[in-house]
Amino acid sequence: MNNDIFKILLIDDIKIDVRIFEKLLDKIEDEQHELLVTNTLEEGKKILDDNSINIVFLDLHLPDSSIEQTLDFVSEYEEKFPFIILSSIHDKQQRIRAIQKGAQDYLVKNEFDKQLLSRVINYSLERHHLHKELHTYANELREKEQRLIESQAIAQLGNWDLLLDNDTIEWSPEARLILELNLEKNFTSLEWLVNLVKDEEKDNVWNIFRQAIEGSRDFNTDLKVMLPNGNRKYINLRIRSTEVDDEKNKKIRGTIQDITFRKEMENALMFSEEKYHRLFEESTDAIFITTDAGKFVDFNRAMLDLFGYSAEELVNIHVSQLYFNPFEREVIKKIIKEKGLIREYEVALRRIDGTKIECVISSTPWRSNDGKLRGYQGIIRDITERKRNEELVRNKEIAERSSRLKQRFLANMSHEIRTPITSIAGLTHLILKTTLTPQQQEYVNGIRTSSEHLLALVNDILDYSKIEEGKVKFHLLEFNLRAHLTQLFKTMEYAALNKNIQYLHEFDDNLPENIVGDPIRLNQIIFNLLSNAIKFTDRGLVKLSARLVEDAKNAVVISIVVQDTGIGIPENKLHTIFRSFTQLGKDVTKTAEGTGLGLAITRQLIELQGGTINVKSKPDEGSTFEVMMMFKKQVDTTEKPEQSRESENNQLDSIDIGFKKILIVEDKKLNQLVTTEMLKSRWKNIETAIADNGKEAVEILRHKKFDLVLMDVQMPEMDGYEATKAIRADLKIPYSVMPILAMTAYTTDNETQQCLEAGMNDFVAKPFDPEQLYRKIIGLVLHTASDHSYLAESTSYNYNDGEHLNLAYLNQITNGNATLKSKIIQMLIEETPEELFQLKKFTREKSWKRTRAIAHKMKSGISYLGLANTLNDIKLIEEYAGNEIRLDKIPALVEKVDVACTKAINELVRMKSVL
Ligand code: ADP
Repeated sequence: MNNDIFKILLIDDIKIDVRIFEKLLDKIEDEQHELLVTNTLEEGKKILDDNSINIVFLDLHLPDSSIEQTLDFVSEYEEKFPFIILSSIHDKQQRIRAIQKGAQDYLVKNEFDKQLLSRVINYSLERHHLHKELHTYANELREKEQRLIESQAIAQLGNWDLLLDNDTIEWSPEARLILELNLEKNFTSLEWLVNLVKDEEKDNVWNIFRQAIEGSRDFNTDLKVMLPNGNRKYINLRIRSTEVDDEKNKKIRGTIQDITFRKEMENALMFSEEKYHRLFEESTDAIFITTDAGKFVDFNRAMLDLFGYSAEELVNIHVSQLYFNPFEREVIKKIIKEKGLIREYEVALRRIDGTKIECVISSTPWRSNDGKLRGYQGIIRDITERKRNEELVRNKEIAERSSRLKQRFLANMSHEIRTPITSIAGLTHLILKTTLTPQQQEYVNGIRTSSEHLLALVNDILDYSKIEEGKVKFHLLEFNLRAHLTQLFKTMEYAALNKNIQYLHEFDDNLPENIVGDPIRLNQIIFNLLSNAIKFTDRGLVKLSARLVEDAKNAVVISIVVQDTGIGIPENKLHTIFRSFTQLGKDVTKTAEGTGLGLAITRQLIELQGGTINVKSKPDEGSTFEVMMMFKKQVDTTEKPEQSRESENNQLDSIDIGFKKILIVEDKKLNQLVTTEMLKSRWKNIETAIADNGKEAVEILRHKKFDLVLMDVQMPEMDGYEATKAIRADLKIPYSVMPILAMTAYTTDNETQQCLEAGMNDFVAKPFDPEQLYRKIIGLVLHTASDHSYLAESTSYNYNDGEHLNLAYLNQITNGNATLKSKIIQMLIEETPEELFQLKKFTREKSWKRTRAIAHKMKSGISYLGLANTLNDIKLIEEYAGNEIRLDKIPALVEKVDVACTKAINELVRMKSVL
């Protein structure tokens, strides 16, 4: 007890008892005390809460609380205060209850004296004190135990005891969690544990335990285990070899820790370190680490390969030496400082041998742990090749663009030039047919030569642009080589004789009679060579020779040589003459005539046909051009040659197209005149009309039927394509169905396609070769019965009554195949009347089997005619006749079918006749 005033609280509502208690207390002299008294539990609580009370005497019977409540109050406060219960009776049960609830003692009123009271107080205080300490220790212990459990859980560390007598291991809760043991099962055998490791390690584990049991060593080992449920873990097992003696069991102790996470991290780290090392070394990009001052700290193989230094050399140079412009390093450092990194920065670097390499650098700062800049790390990629490719692509694009522009320019120019030439050539053609004085004849011939020359130039340009675009086509015709060369030779004779030079030819006797090839292109080739030879020769000779070089089974190789004794070509220029737009300077040729395209086209035409051209030349001595080409001897059966133009011409010469009406749609007056005259000079009986543009043509055609329309493509107001579309779509039969022949200045595939898509039947290129124009016209006005493709897709023809013809189904099934379509139409026209005749005949004869058969046969024809109702009728006829039912209905149905089909067929015939 301390020296402070000892405070006693008495809670009792019986005054007399309080008085007695006070008296007794006063008698205890050795104590300095203060007694606080209250008569309710409520008040007692307040006092306890507010004061430092040393001991409490408590009457069990209080006015504001039952005995039970009072006892609960004790247990609530007993940790803080020692309680002594005062009771008026001896009650053993009550006494036990009070002690259980935490009271230190139990006194029966009026049965204790001052000694007992003093002793009870002292013992109670002492007991309470001990109790309190015990309580604190227990709490601490519990806390420590809890902390241990928690730290074991955090460390995933459990402990175990191996009981040596019965060979079992007792596992702690955390150990059980690690081994994923059922929580109720805290024992396993040692063997169970050993079985968790791989077979090859089992002996080792047994050994460890044996040695530990023998007391020789402590062990600490990492094991890889597979738990019975299949889970794999890494565990760390520590074994204390010292035996612990329990009263019952001898045991050794140890810990078990789950180290799976750590091990996996270690493995991953090991793997990634290895991986990064490999990446670093095997990277094709150069990787570096440098100090801020500019020294290399580390680099990979690619770095050495890129710059050509050895590792020793590289560590001894300053980084800026690798830059083509050394100041670039400072620029890069500045960017890194500002932005924290640099990415794909394009820079020129320098190899050890001084050559420049185009590179991109990506780099980040390298800092020490305290954040201080130590240097830089990064990657360098060589993009020299990429840059070169980009450059090439760029150049290619520029070249392609300029080539496209050139093409467009050439096409436009040739168009512009060809239009006036059309007029000149056409008018010259017409004038020469009139009676002229010899002088006029000579002048007009001059005009013709000039216009032909001009045309040749334009053709050259067009040819060249076609070749460039890969659009040149070769035709396979059978022709007589000797006759062809002779004729060509003759056409140039006049020019050669004019120059007063010898003009010779020498054709090998072995030359084959007929060969298969493109005679027009061959003309073009030899014509170019001959005209150059004549042009560049002022004395001596020009000679054309041809010989058979090889005679194989199916083909021949022919050599054609054009030799001259002209100005010749300097050796250093020989390789350039076949390039486009190449003309040797005036100093060499003394003439500037030509486009410089002739030989370029010639060579291309030869090579595209699989041949070769060679030139030998010496200035002032002359030139020899040799063309070697292979021709087939005979037509391949698989490859039908086109009919030779000459023979075709001969056949066509005599053809008269009769009284035909032709509408010429053309905006240029001169061309209107030329075209009209050309047609009239050929066919006397035709009638022509003019429309100034597409719109006018559509108007004229609305009311007047023509047999042919010649349609210019480029026109103001409404061009040829639009006009054709309008004619085909908006006008009625027969005004909409005559053939339309396009006249176009361009002859590109695209243009051709557009003409056909618009609904035209064919086209001629301006300026026209009159013969070609005549041929096309003959073809169209005489043969178009075989081509109905320009019939509108769902042409339907209205009758005044009943069903009408509808070719939609036919168009659909023939799907653009005009030949098939016209064949079907022809068959319908020929066969339907016969079928109708039979249908009527068999019905009359009541021959129902035959009636059924013919009705069955007629179904498809009626479908093609698009007669839906009639199709139903014919099906009924088939059904009734087949089953011999409702036979009385058949004659009326046959009548209906007859009328509808006859009308439709008549209409088909009429349609065909207007085509
Ligand atoms: P061009 O249409 O201008 O004649 P070519 O392509 O046919 O163009 O010829 C190119 C150039 O080659 C000519 O301008 C000329 O300088 C030279 N050349 C061609 N053929 C002969 C030849 N037989 N003799 C001398 N020079 C020639």
